[in-house]
Amino acid sequence: MDLKQSTVGFIGLGKMGWPIARNLSSSGIRLIVNDADMDVAKRFADTYSARFVSFEGLDEELDVVILTLPNGDIVNSVLFGGGESGASGLAHRLGKGSLVIDMSSSEPNGTRERGQALAELGIAFIDAPVSGGVKKAESRELAVMVGGDEQIYKDISPLLAMMGNKLFYVGSLGAGHAIKALNNYVSAAGLVAASDAVQIARNFGIEPAKAIDVLNASSGRNNSTEVKFQKFILSQAFNSGFSLDLMAKDLGIALSMAEGLHRKSPVLEACAELWNQAKHSMPEGRDHTEIFRFMSERE
Ligand code: NAD
Repeated sequence: MDLKQSTVGFIGLGKMGWPIARNLSSSGIRLIVNDADMDVAKRFADTYSARFVSFEGLDEELDVVILTLPNGDIVNSVLFGGGESGASGLAHRLGKGSLVIDMSSSEPNGTRERGQALAELGIAFIDAPVSGGVKKAESRELAVMVGGDEQIYKDISPLLAMMGNKLFYVGSLGAGHAIKALNNYVSAAGLVAASDAVQIARNFGIEPAKAIDVLNASSGRNNSTEVKFQKFILSQAFNSGFSLDLMAKDLGIALSMAEGLHRKSPVLEACAELWNQAKHSMPEGRDHTEIFRFMSERE
């Protein structure tokens, strides 16, 4: 694929999509952008070297379409129509031979079904979700986990390398989405285990900051104790840029994978239930680090 000659559509300019798209634009990729929030898409196009095109105007001009959307249902409605907007789907307007890259954290079985439907239209599909959060999206240090045709992965690796520096080919279509959900299960479990431990320590008379210092110098440390506690939780900033709703969604995906594979996962079940309760008892849009506050208030 000649990236300099390609036109790339980018849909979903939220907390992750914006910095990823900005990095593509600054790497010289010819970008056409769109978002359900047209003001955001227009602001992006005005700020960077990119063109805003309305959803109905997106067509066979696009060689590649990148999606960074909240979930697989929204990916489906963008590609095949329906959904809240009632708009017709993009898949029917793309040219044969084009490629759709779903960088959202979508449900893997739905991804496989979408791949089949797109293949019938002559459109290739690959899943390439990411990990690392807003900070690593900004610094092009994301981990990118890819499922689908391996040759396509090799062809688009230079494009993916503009977004992340840890690229993984994981397996057939949906494998990227599967490992992403499982990664977030491990991350969510680490965060709630550390929250629990810090709150028990506090009730025992140990300062939370001291507890985190000890964990970080000991075998109990994890990404949450090292990266999230001081900066987002003990500071009470709660602004990591990753919402609690999205983490609860990822746990639901991991749980439905385990159930679909007839596997009993009591820790995953308990973890998914906790995050689901937090999601339903807190206003939408709360940061996922507020799980600490939720657990503290339940004491
Ligand atoms: P976000 O809510 O900030 O952004 C989503 C964007 O999609 C918004 O700009 C929204 O307007 C747009 N959108 C929603 N419906 C749309 C539609 N029908 N058509 C066009 N645009 C639409 O979410 P985010 O945090 O950027 O996450 C995006 C994806 O990346 C999610 O699947 C999430 O799970 C995943 N992810 C997020 C992070 C993070 O740290 N935020 C990290 C890794 C993966």
